[in-house]
Amino acid sequence: MNYESFYRQSVEQPELFWAEQARRIHWEVPPQRILDHSNPPFRRWFVGGTTNLCYNAVDRHLAERADQLALVAVSGETGITHEYSYRELHREVNVFAATLQALNVRRGDRVVIYLPNIAEAVFAMLACARIGAIHSVVFGGFAAHNLALRIDDAQPKLLVCADAGMRAGKMIPYKPLVDAALNEASAPPPSVLVVDRGLDTQMNLTPGRDVDYAELRVRHEGAEVPVAWLESNEPSYLLYTSGTTGKPKGVQRDTGGYAVAMAMSIRCIFDIAPGQVMFSTSDVGWAVGHSYNVYGPLIGGATSLLYEGLPTRPDPGVWWGLCEKYGVRSMFSSPTAIRVLKKQDAGWLQSHDLSTLKWLFLAGEPLDEPTSQWINAELGVPVIDNYWQTETGWPAITLMPGLDLKPTKPGSPGLPAPGYRMKVVDENSGREVPAGSKGVLVLEPPLPPGCLSTVWRDDDRYVHSYFSHFRELLYSSLDWAIRDADGYTFILGRTDDVINVAGHRLGTREIEESVAGHPAVAETAVIGVRDELKGQVPVVFATLKQETGASVAEVARGMQQRVVDQLGSVAKPARVYVVNALPKTRSGKLLRRSLQALAEQRDPGDLSTLDDPAALEEIRKALERGP
Ligand code: ATP
Ligand code: MG
Repeated sequence: MNYESFYRQSVEQPELFWAEQARRIHWEVPPQRILDHSNPPFRRWFVGGTTNLCYNAVDRHLAERADQLALVAVSGETGITHEYSYRELHREVNVFAATLQALNVRRGDRVVIYLPNIAEAVFAMLACARIGAIHSVVFGGFAAHNLALRIDDAQPKLLVCADAGMRAGKMIPYKPLVDAALNEASAPPPSVLVVDRGLDTQMNLTPGRDVDYAELRVRHEGAEVPVAWLESNEPSYLLYTSGTTGKPKGVQRDTGGYAVAMAMSIRCIFDIAPGQVMFSTSDVGWAVGHSYNVYGPLIGGATSLLYEGLPTRPDPGVWWGLCEKYGVRSMFSSPTAIRVLKKQDAGWLQSHDLSTLKWLFLAGEPLDEPTSQWINAELGVPVIDNYWQTETGWPAITLMPGLDLKPTKPGSPGLPAPGYRMKVVDENSGREVPAGSKGVLVLEPPLPPGCLSTVWRDDDRYVHSYFSHFRELLYSSLDWAIRDADGYTFILGRTDDVINVAGHRLGTREIEESVAGHPAVAETAVIGVRDELKGQVPVVFATLKQETGASVAEVARGMQQRVVDQLGSVAKPARVYVVNALPKTRSGKLLRRSLQALAEQRDPGDLSTLDDPAALEEIRKALERGP
């Protein structure tokens, strides 16, 4: 099957197409109706069908692949690896599900999961899915306030946490954060289930509320918990958006549509067949982690690698060593992680046999050309950029090497994924702009299976946030894009990230791309800063590669010159600040919003998702000092 006919059918005959795709999963009761779009922008896929995510991810594989590895959880921090076959995964998930039931968790109840990137996080998610409870994974290490906000929104029956996580060799106690969050929350859950990793020997349990998983685990050893068959449109989980641009939204996912989207995408996009190995370096707390560390590979009968820690510990070759050891076929990471590795000695990469590796997928942030070229040359495998959002749950723009690989185009994630009816429209009129022109990337409803059903308990916010930007009912991605004559889409950055220099509208992305091409530059963030004369001017923040002979001033001038040469003098950065680190969210996204606020001497706003507060402090000092 080639991409063109696959895609064409998905948008011209969606019901036929998705009915066919639905056969990739097990339905306890087959759907009665493929699509109900009678109440847009809401839509229901596979109406009347009943299924279960855990059954599809685990039980269904026992007949054929019980002894095959399902999950490999590696910690670069503790140095410990746990391997689980499908049979063992089934056992663990059943014990966990029995534990949830013993703690009064029932179908439809929410469970907040606040764990590091360890196997228990996967067990907890699948156990919830098994009994029809709705999980809401909160990225481990989010601050207490952040956790409290999510608890108040989700109103869980139970919170699952660990004693501690680890980062860069440092133990990070989780339990005190949980205690603080529960104090702050207005409706805290009655129970907390603690996975004690033995990292924090000082941990306190609150009697009557906190229970040690190890104790319950023994009690439920060997349990068999029947799966709850859910109607396709019953919620499976909530996942709050990363909050780069403001208050997080509780993205609500359905059950059947998501299962089908996972089964199709793991095969046709990520090119993973049953028995093959997928390594996604994401944390399960993010959308990528949900879909391609847990549900995608497991529904697809593959082996999933889970990794706790940094790409540079114990050494910068650790990921490639895992690719070699487990025979990874498709790897999925982020441009940010690759830029971290780019700063290291390439020798770490070359000392591993990567002959099984076929593809490197990257997502989450614009992939700059130098980073893409560097990793492509080092690995010798195609680099597949893919664009999506927490809301979509799976790639919206990508190439599909699982079907047939179309040519890659530098700077573009590629072509629309099946079911995505995509347009680039004028921000005011909402009319489609000609090929090659800049506009807002939108999706025509109905959104394909797997995308959000609504915002948790807030249908108005779903309509208002995503579907109220144009006269026509269109889902706004809130990203700028250009579609070229071949149908390739280029993402130019968020609609709130545009710089307006004397009436010229410049995407931060274009300038970043240009600056990042400078050989001494490791990473950049470009923002628009208020300027009396021009309205706004571009300002660059950059980190440099480890050893570069040039002086900082020379490099800064070089960056400005590149922009002038490539984009014209209107785009010339007014100031260049060279710093040691850029402020990012825990998911590795640049906090341009905060950079801009600091540069304009405003309050940087909610910093609870900030990864490394020292980075922002350094920016503050750099701004005071001047470029
Ligand atoms: P919030 O919506 O809460 O502000 P967020 O948008 O950062 O947070 P995510 O859903 O994790 O949360 O990120 C999706 C966004 O990331 C996209 O809208 C886009 O701006 C960016 N993005 C993702 N993948 C790519 C890519 N391949 N190329 C360019 N940008 C990308
Ligand atoms: Mg977003």
